[in-house]
Amino acid sequence: MNFLGHVGLALLVASGMSAALQLSLLAVLWTCGIASIMAVVPDKDIRSAYLSHRGVTHSILFACTASIAIGALSHFLLTFHPQICEIAASVLHMSPFIAGFTPAFIGTATHLAGDVVTYSGIPLFWPSKKRFSLGLFGSKNAAVNIMAGLAGFAAFIALTWTV
Ligand SMILES: [Zn+2]
Repeated sequence: MNFLGHVGLALLVASGMSAALQLSLLAVLWTCGIASIMAVVPDKDIRSAYLSHRGVTHSILFACTASIAIGALSHFLLTFHPQICEIAASVLHMSPFIAGFTPAFIGTATHLAGDVVTYSGIPLFWPSKKRFSLGLFGSKNAAVNIMAGLAGFAAFIALTWTV
């Protein structure tokens, strides 16, 4: 998938989770913001001089590691910085770590899901080089990317409109 498709897919899932948990508007923005950012991070390997595209950043190992790192950052920010404790109070009824880990994992996991359905596939179990692909369409398929993007943004707007 491309940028639009990945962000759309992440917004769709993050909005759905936010609605199910009846999060406040601030918590929705926090959750969807982190998920959207983390949904595009794996493709930063395209411009990297050290990483091959669709390598380690497209693995379950990366999704878990990056999400734990964001969870730790979230724990630090929400626990030790009193000026944003207002966010801590309203962001999720979970621990500060989970408040960061969950949307980060939604972002990275939906990225993997969005790429595993394409022809070229991804090395889900890196460092194993075996690539997994459902082979449904090309990653640049405009219709699929636009539909995913529109669905995600529609879900996000509908959710923020109603909370
Ligand atoms: Zn990708």
